[in-house]
Amino acid sequence: MEIDNLRKLYVEELKDLHSAERQILQALPKMAKKASNPQLKAAFEQHLEVTRMQVERLDKIFERMGKKGTGKKCKAMEGLVEEGKEMMEEDMAPEVMDAALIAAAQRVEHYEMAGYGTVRTYARVLGEDQDAKLLQQTLDEEGEADKLLTKLAESSINVEAAAEV
Ligand code: FE
Ligand code: FE
Ligand code: ZN
Ligand code: FE
Repeated sequence: MEIDNLRKLYVEELKDLHSAERQILQALPKMAKKASNPQLKAAFEQHLEVTRMQVERLDKIFERMGKKGTGKKCKAMEGLVEEGKEMMEEDMAPEVMDAALIAAAQRVEHYEMAGYGTVRTYARVLGEDQDAKLLQQTLDEEGEADKLLTKLAESSINVEAAAEV
């Protein structure tokens, strides 16, 4: 199918995000397991729950369009997850591993923020106001997750990792 208008591109971008979220659903439990800091562990577990709702929002949008959200693989998220996996296999002190987990997770959040910002803007110009609201909600959640990770890193985890010899 030729992508000859913004609406078709919108659908493609939504499918990319749907794939990205599904990959994140697989990765987050492993990251939570690997985290030592209880607050970081809880942040990953909580974002897993939030991610489930984000997938449901995308499903809702696809349902209304009468389209399927599957059939596309986000290769960027595949790469981010793969890089995170490699990092988790490294021999690291637990405090340093926590810092590395945050580094990986923030890359994921920023990728999502870029994607959701784009589709939210497309939804607005296409007059899909309900979609725009749902996508803005998810964008806000990704932003909150990112900010929480920054807070955990700056308040304790980076400091503890720096003390490691
Ligand atoms: Fe997400
Ligand atoms: Fe993507
Ligand atoms: Zn992709
Ligand atoms: Fe996220």
